[in-house]
Amino acid sequence: MVSKKIYVTRSSMPKIEDYIEEIRPIFESHHMTNMGPIYKKFQKQLINYLEVPELSLFVNGHMALEMAIQALGLREKGGDVITTPFTFVSTTHAITRNGLKPVFCDIKPDDYTMDPDKIEALITEKTVAIIPVHVYGNICDVEAIDRIAKKHNLIVIYDAAHAFGIKYKGVGIGNFGDASMFSFHATKVFNTIEGGAVAFKDKKYAQKLHELKNFGISGQDDVLGIGGNAKLDEFRAAMGICNLRRIEECIQKRKAVVETYDFYFKGVPGLKIQTTQENVTSNYAYYPLYIDKKVFGKSRDDIFNLLKEHNIYTRKYFYPAINEMTCYKDMFSLDTPVAHDVSMNILTLPLYEDLTLDEVKTISKIILK
Ligand SMILES: *Cc1c(COP(=O)(O)O)cnc(C)c1O
Repeated sequence: MVSKKIYVTRSSMPKIEDYIEEIRPIFESHHMTNMGPIYKKFQKQLINYLEVPELSLFVNGHMALEMAIQALGLREKGGDVITTPFTFVSTTHAITRNGLKPVFCDIKPDDYTMDPDKIEALITEKTVAIIPVHVYGNICDVEAIDRIAKKHNLIVIYDAAHAFGIKYKGVGIGNFGDASMFSFHATKVFNTIEGGAVAFKDKKYAQKLHELKNFGISGQDDVLGIGGNAKLDEFRAAMGICNLRRIEECIQKRKAVVETYDFYFKGVPGLKIQTTQENVTSNYAYYPLYIDKKVFGKSRDDIFNLLKEHNIYTRKYFYPAINEMTCYKDMFSLDTPVAHDVSMNILTLPLYEDLTLDEVKTISKIILK
């Protein structure tokens, strides 16, 4: 039993003095929201850091994805979207709430991302887009997905909520597909308390996204479209600026945690650790451990409960698979046996920048015992 409770994550925060410095100008200008100077400064910094051509900031990742789907014309078009059942439910809700139908494609057992070999069999004349997810910071096979999308003239929007700062072959992950959504929720590698963004290539989407998150208003005298409200305010943008300054240090600390877990779990029969992908600069977002009860002797749920008794709170993430949730299980859905199996056996362990290596050792030893 550890004395203080250890949760699966703990939000990164800057020094309070740094934050006060960053928000001080707001108390002079009273410009608290509506794409003010801090929003614009933060947007520029993020474009640089993520190395993407265009970026629009949102109040959260979910609204960023919902509005990206709409901005790219999919809501008007209607139809089916090929997506993954192994994700946070936000991905699927964003599709469904745009009047589109999710079609679930199974995942790969090695990195838990959408299996590109299974996509083409699902494409029909109704298919309009593919919305894959970079799971735990494992990136999708972006090249294969790109080839399939081009061949069938489909739009690709990545849910990159887990993939902040990742590079593939030296290219920012937000450059793949037609658009990518990032989440800056408090629990993510990088946070603005709540927040999110859409990265995209084609400049024409900038105005559309701006309108959608701002009631469809463009100038003083007219309303062009039917928008909602999903603007990132100045206080959150300031939090982003502070946290972005510390991001490299934060990722390095997470890396040390991941390497320590790996040291304990590597080669243990029945435990599968995450495989590092080739050509990928990782952000060490999550530590998923796949537990094969037949070999290891204990199930995922056993370990979850055991750790809870020790004051250590892990997460069954992602569980259940989306196509097994009450709200989706009766919708069009083919069998996705790999996603089902992974969702039943995966456990996400505590991982955050100031989790000490001693704590990692304690957690690992409890599991191994
Ligand atoms: C966090 C998350 C979202 C939603 O982002 P919010 O910023 O919390 O709205 C969507 N998809 C995935 C995979 C996520 O992990």
